Amino acid sequence: MEESALRKLYDPEIFRRQGHDLIDHLADSLKASLNAEDLIKVTNGVNPQDEYEFWMSNSYFDVDQFFRTITERSIKLHHLRFMGHQVSPPAPLSVLASLQGAFLNNGMALFEMGPAASALERMVVEKFRSYFGFHQGTGVMTSGGTIANLTALICARNVKAKGVLWNEGQTENYAFMVSDEAHYCIDRAVKIMVWGDRGLIRIPVDDQFRMRTDLLEENLIKAQQKGVIVLGVIGSAPSTSSGIYDDLDAIGSFCSEHHLWYHIDAAHGGPAAFSEKFKYLMSGSQKANSITVDAHKMMMTPALTTMLLFRDDEDSFRTFAQKAQYLWNESEEEWFNYGKRTLECTKVMLSIRVWVLIQTYGIDIFEKYLDACYQLGRTFADMIRKESCLELPVSPDSNIVCFRVRAANNLLSDNINRQIRNKVYQEGKFYIVQTTLNGNVYLRVSLMNPFTTTNDLKSLIHSIKIIYENLTTEQNELFN
Ligand SMILES: *Cc1c(COP(=O)(O)O)cnc(C)c1O
Repeated sequence: MEESALRKLYDPEIFRRQGHDLIDHLADSLKASLNAEDLIKVTNGVNPQDEYEFWMSNSYFDVDQFFRTITERSIKLHHLRFMGHQVSPPAPLSVLASLQGAFLNNGMALFEMGPAASALERMVVEKFRSYFGFHQGTGVMTSGGTIANLTALICARNVKAKGVLWNEGQTENYAFMVSDEAHYCIDRAVKIMVWGDRGLIRIPVDDQFRMRTDLLEENLIKAQQKGVIVLGVIGSAPSTSSGIYDDLDAIGSFCSEHHLWYHIDAAHGGPAAFSEKFKYLMSGSQKANSITVDAHKMMMTPALTTMLLFRDDEDSFRTFAQKAQYLWNESEEEWFNYGKRTLECTKVMLSIRVWVLIQTYGIDIFEKYLDACYQLGRTFADMIRKESCLELPVSPDSNIVCFRVRAANNLLSDNINRQIRNKVYQEGKFYIVQTTLNGNVYLRVSLMNPFTTTNDLKSLIHSIKIIYENLTTEQNELFN
């Protein structure tokens, strides 16, 4: 009995049949998501408790049915009207590479446990580095931008604090400087390093949501007066919430002048460097010591797939000085045992997800994708400008666009925009999110689908206006 269940579990023919069925089902789902004529909902707009109860009460189990129900009850990232968070609609070919990676399960900490994926990881990094102005340098792939940023900051600490911390622990107070609008994972990384609140010096942004680089110098001096050693500055490309790129060149010059580590968190917008039209947004990247780029955002791979690039080859080996004797004999620098250079030990075969796209469609497929999405951001902003009841806090740099319904005052606006966003979610025809800028609530879209049309954008604006009208009528009725 035991044995036959195990045999079945690994039966190649069962795998073949279930696999074919699953791919058929996913292809159908893709077709439905991309078909503007026959729009299915993006999301069921369900609340957490109801979803939990659905699964709790679901006692019948059938594999094919299970896969279908999971799709039905998941948010559809390939949908033309998915405009929420910055996760890409993964390219089917890259999904297949992920499936192969899952099957082969090569762990990658050691070259021997992932020869093909290790060689390709080096080639992926070498393929992209020149777009950022790095002529040598290498890097690592990580499961997500959060880990890549943490890795980069640990590396910066080891290099700039001369490597004593790793073995001897903290003796001084250190800090990084970052824009007020930076992603929360930077704060988290600093807290993980136990630098506390003073470990992160937040530089205010200007009215365009860019870091006020004119304030870097005085903040550096202030820190020194307090006995805090600033090790580096982090630029956002772009900041997640506003979608606006910092002035990367100005930050770079400041860092060079003061011998500080320069990290660019380009998790979302690094691939602008691959675009003739939008590479100006990344100009100054050649001054960085390290750059984080998420492929699962603007490079169409499944999550999580991230590249962490280093300008100087040797820096890429300096993050983790610790030795694991049973894994390797000497700690000499070698490119192929990736476990030495990343937080992860066992790691997913990330490189094949990117490599298969480069080789099949050419490297300019990334430029085409980015151009289409960033152009949609500009188109949408133009449409917002024409609506008297809507406003933009800033012209978008990227495919992230913030906007809001303008009410009589900020308090009322916050309240109304919050309600609109909830209503849009519950209706499930679009998926958008909300954010806070300058203390005020804004609606926010990330236009991740290159096939989203102006008609989809028009419909979104139309839906929002209707919800707004209904809200105001309801409120008037309440007060009268
Ligand atoms: C998405 C994002 C992150 C976090 O990356 P994950 O891949 O989700 O871990 C960090 N910084 C910025 C600017 C981001 O856009």
